[in-house]
Amino acid sequence: MMKGMNAPSDWPKTVTLKCEKCGATQPAPMHCGKPMAPEKGGKSSKLVCWMGASCGAVDIPKHHGKPMKVIT
Ligand SMILES: [Zn+2]
Ligand SMILES: [Zn+2]
Repeated sequence: MMKGMNAPSDWPKTVTLKCEKCGATQPAPMHCGKPMAPEKGGKSSKLVCWMGASCGAVDIPKHHGKPMKVIT
């Protein structure tokens, strides 16, 4: 199968990060035109690009010293 340039249909349209302590929210970083989202089945606290972790991966941003909650 050729890899298309469209994100998987189940890729979240918006990804919001929320601090569980103070309630602050911020949008997830973008990569390749889509929001980064938690790695599927990943146990790591990473946000990955829809093209795959090899394209882009970042640690989930922290707020008040804790990784923010990811809302998709
Ligand atoms: Zn906070
Ligand atoms: Zn990417």
